[in-house]
Amino acid sequence: MPPRVVQALCDDPRFVEHPREHDIASRSPATGEVLGGVRPDDAETYERALTVAVESFDRWRRVPPPERGRVVHGVAAAIRERQAELGELIALEVGKIRAEGVGEVQETLDIADYALGLSRSLGGRTIPSERRDHRIYEQWLPLGPVGVITAFNFPHAVWGWNAMLAAVCGDVVVWKPSLRAPLTALATNRLAEQAAAAMGYGGLFHLVVGDDVTIGERLAADRRLPLVSATGSCRMGRRVGEVVARRLGRTLLELGGNNAVIVEPDADLDLATRAIVFGAVGTAGQRCTTTRRLIAHEGIVGELTDRLVRAYRSIRLGDPLAEGTLVGPLIAAEAVQAFERAVAAARSQGGEVLIGGRRASLAGALSKGFFVEPTIIRAPATNELAIASEETFAPILYVFTYRELDEAIGVNNGVDQGLSSAIFSGSVRSSERFLSPDGTGSDCGLAYVNLGTSGAEVGGAFGGEKDTGGGRESGSDSWKAYMRRQTCTLNFGREFALAQGIRFE
Ligand code: NAD
Repeated sequence: MPPRVVQALCDDPRFVEHPREHDIASRSPATGEVLGGVRPDDAETYERALTVAVESFDRWRRVPPPERGRVVHGVAAAIRERQAELGELIALEVGKIRAEGVGEVQETLDIADYALGLSRSLGGRTIPSERRDHRIYEQWLPLGPVGVITAFNFPHAVWGWNAMLAAVCGDVVVWKPSLRAPLTALATNRLAEQAAAAMGYGGLFHLVVGDDVTIGERLAADRRLPLVSATGSCRMGRRVGEVVARRLGRTLLELGGNNAVIVEPDADLDLATRAIVFGAVGTAGQRCTTTRRLIAHEGIVGELTDRLVRAYRSIRLGDPLAEGTLVGPLIAAEAVQAFERAVAAARSQGGEVLIGGRRASLAGALSKGFFVEPTIIRAPATNELAIASEETFAPILYVFTYRELDEAIGVNNGVDQGLSSAIFSGSVRSSERFLSPDGTGSDCGLAYVNLGTSGAEVGGAFGGEKDTGGGRESGSDSWKAYMRRQTCTLNFGREFALAQGIRFE
């Protein structure tokens, strides 16, 4: 029998209790237990979903935005009712702890609130015309069905961020989830689609499940999807970006991060320690915003690493659903191997392991889980550690030292990714230098002062620069990515006037 929460949430014709070879099986990374599976899509079922998506878009775009907001609110209410169960399913399927699973669902609820507000304020600018009796304004129009590709580590919230905004903008959503979290996707999409259908708006939320080529690249190449929003590794973003660009479509790319925290000599070390521990080991180091590099001033690096090592000793590794567990397993055996390769590379490059560095063997049902020890590795005195420029999706924190702040900012910016960054400092001058308005401070999309790199709120735009892809989701004006802009010019006079003063008589 599947776990109770799977039975409760995956009551869907596509769910299979005993997945066979061609089905997408879901396994608990904590125990290896098969939780169930999903029947994959093929070219024919994909086509059917797209046909319905295109037809539904034509109806949905005509619905006034405030009514769309009401529907999004209703979808959120249905999700809220099942928040605890969804959070548990996420914890079971991807191994994050229960509180983080429930928090992930909260992100969808928060963005739904945001979308509800937007439904009464999606607005364009009025622009002064150089011609008498003319008016120029911009209006924002629904874009079309949008493709959403999501990563395993936020199997619910990344859909929520995209889907709630897309829906309020008048778009319908075609979602290709990670094959590592098919049940969360099935449950989430089913709740949303049923809630919208109950309000008279079926066909807004579609799920297409399948491998990267059969479904992923088909979706990326599909001209009926004017926007593809893709979250995942830089490798995936390069490929999807290329396929979508070939048809001159639009992408919103949210890719890998390699985030650093700078700690100044006058920083509050209590605050910094807590934020760094949460940022480095939360979600077992499998967040795009995970703190992967610590850049500490030479005057406090010893004390700070001692504090971190002490804190790491008290971290409880274990069953993500058990009370008191802070760190669950990695997602799969390949992730454990990548962790081991990174630790070995760091050692061979002169790094010193201060704590951790091995896979963790747990007893009983957890003995088949993909657990690793949260790890801190100090870079050699040269401050050079090539492996730290890669994003290894595991709880490894590399420690660098600096003397002058500009040097630290150089280390922060000296990687290919540009997602999140933070400084702990008691000095306004240093903080402002880090956030400098001339762009010479942090080069990341997210920059924090006296906060860690993880844990964004939905009100601000979320995303990063360089190899992180440049996309922005969530708050601020990110909604514009899901709409098309039209500049409208009206002549309400009787003269035929040309711009730039051109006379044509
Ligand atoms: P991944 O790149 O392996 O897969 C992500 C998604 O892309 C999956 O649904 C996968 O099936 C799909 N995919 C892969 N190749 C494809 C192709 N050629 N065409 C179409 N779809 C394809 O990533 P992952 O291991 O699931 O997630 C971890 C990565 O995601 C990390 O790099 C992490 O930093 C990143 N991430 C970024 C953000 C962000 O907002 N910047 C958020 C979450 C995760």
